[in-house]
Amino acid sequence: MTASPTLGVAQAPGRVNLIGDHTDHAGGLALPMAIDLGTTIEGRRGGDRLQLRSAQFPSALSVSLPLRDARIEPDWARYVAAVAVELQPQQGFTGTITSTLPLGAGLSSSASLEIAAALALGFTGSDMELALLAQRSEFAAVGVPCGLLDQLSCVFAREGHALCIDFGSLEIETVPMPVGLDIVVVHSGVERTLAGSAYAERRAACERAASIIGPLATSSIEDLPAIADPIIRRRARHVITECSRVVEATAALRSGDVVSFGEHMTDSHRSLRDDFEVSTPEVDALVEVLTAMPGVHGARITGAGFGGCVVAACEPGAIADPTTFSGRGWIVRAAGPASMQLIDD
Ligand code: ADP
Ligand code: MG
Repeated sequence: MTASPTLGVAQAPGRVNLIGDHTDHAGGLALPMAIDLGTTIEGRRGGDRLQLRSAQFPSALSVSLPLRDARIEPDWARYVAAVAVELQPQQGFTGTITSTLPLGAGLSSSASLEIAAALALGFTGSDMELALLAQRSEFAAVGVPCGLLDQLSCVFAREGHALCIDFGSLEIETVPMPVGLDIVVVHSGVERTLAGSAYAERRAACERAASIIGPLATSSIEDLPAIADPIIRRRARHVITECSRVVEATAALRSGDVVSFGEHMTDSHRSLRDDFEVSTPEVDALVEVLTAMPGVHGARITGAGFGGCVVAACEPGAIADPTTFSGRGWIVRAAGPASMQLIDD
């Protein structure tokens, strides 16, 4: 009897963006790190149905292939359905999804799910094609015109490293995480609301600014007075200053200057709060509490904003129990990339 390799386990990490938020769609810079929290899809290939149950939701996904439209029920399954529409897999899949990530909290559970799903369903192209497929799937699933930050972080991750990504050239540099630096993620306790529509509105403001002064990634703050509208000007100022902060924070991390790295993170938070206006009072209060703690070098909101998680950089053990603030928090480590394992049985 010949064994067929039909049993598979796909794993994909989430990510925490250390600095550089809302810069990817403007062709700017960011410094994310894949984390040791992620999505696992386990099951069997075969047949002509896609059947997946997620531990997080009562209703399962159950559709026959080929699938032409991602707009199915339940809502959560649209991310997986969109991947199936893009990929047009040769065979079906039956299995379960488990996740150690908080959902909708800015740690990229959606891209992690899409990438794990693509691998489970038999994706075979290049890493960049995988990231692009997941980005198209996200747009098809929920209509959010997201950049590539989450998908690239998940696919190009390297254990023990952050990634400095240039979204203009799609060049990715690995940056070793220094020993003696804890990266701590704390949930603010605020669930994100209106993130999708506000995100699209912020993105449109950046495009408006770029139509006046040119690409924001290569503009400088001296260009800003040419933008008459004060809101559009502030949005552009965030992107321009955030890209500079990523350059400086990456250099600080490389040289082991963790204090200056933390200061750039806290400056980034102020810019996201005041210029990009994607924070909330509760998140601001959490950043204040964390940055006032001894041994904490800096903290900022991470991800799309409007609630979700805060990331802090600190001396080892300075935030010994990250669950004390809202009940949800993690000391995270830089993890490796998404992977797929086929098991003969
Ligand atoms: P984030 O990517 O920051 O976690 P999003 O709003 O982009 O937040 O994506 C969260 C959504 O992704 C969830 O509401 C759910 O629909 C889907 N999702 C992510 N992980 C899972 C999972 N393990 N099971 C089912 N759905 C998931
Ligand atoms: Mg997401």
